[in-house]
Amino acid sequence: MSKRRIGIMGGTFDPVHHGHLVAASEVQHLFDLDEVFFVPTGEPWQKADKEVTPAEDRYLMTVIATASNPRFSVSRVDIDRSGPTYTLDTLRDMQALLGPDVDLYFITGADALGQMLSWHNASEMFDLAHFVGCTRPGHTLTDPGLPEGRVSLVEVPALAISSTEVRDRTRSAHPIWYLVPDGIVQYIAKRNLYTD
Ligand code: ATP
Ligand code: MG
Repeated sequence: MSKRRIGIMGGTFDPVHHGHLVAASEVQHLFDLDEVFFVPTGEPWQKADKEVTPAEDRYLMTVIATASNPRFSVSRVDIDRSGPTYTLDTLRDMQALLGPDVDLYFITGADALGQMLSWHNASEMFDLAHFVGCTRPGHTLTDPGLPEGRVSLVEVPALAISSTEVRDRTRSAHPIWYLVPDGIVQYIAKRNLYTD
């Protein structure tokens, strides 16, 4: 039996936007993945000094944004684990959840891939997953020196969108339509997110 091919897209998703969705969709297609799990972080350790929206709101927005794609799912492994989120734990938990008959593909944008060697237990992560780095406007996509054969660099349609920009635009009452799915525009308004 051939192994199931599973993508894992980690992120703060504060909020999820079309840049995340396009990158995940393109990698799903290019690598013929059976399923892509979006995994919202618990407390992101890289962002410990910043205010992050409660995990349940970020989780629900990710569910809303991915619900219509039969290949997309959302996992709670990171938000249900207490303490800061480390990708090594994400990979271990997903592996335990899905069983041994899966190959994991961890999807990142160019900015996150560049930081990866500084991540905790970086070398152990490379045994658990293949890493896929995606182009992202404003960032240079290069292999940061990952072990031979453990990383692929792929070009995805360029969307110069960041969650930071969506939050800033909401705060200053600029429109966020078409940067994020319609349901996310409505959820942000309903829950009064990013207005301070
Ligand atoms: P923030 O501005 O709050 O950091 P972000 O837009 O960078 O938000 P994250 O949740 O930090 O979103 O990113 C999750 C993952 O998605 C990371 O691997 C990141 O590189 C990738 N990513 C985010 N936006 C894009 C984009 N526009 N194109 C390609 N990859 C992206
Ligand atoms: Mg980011």
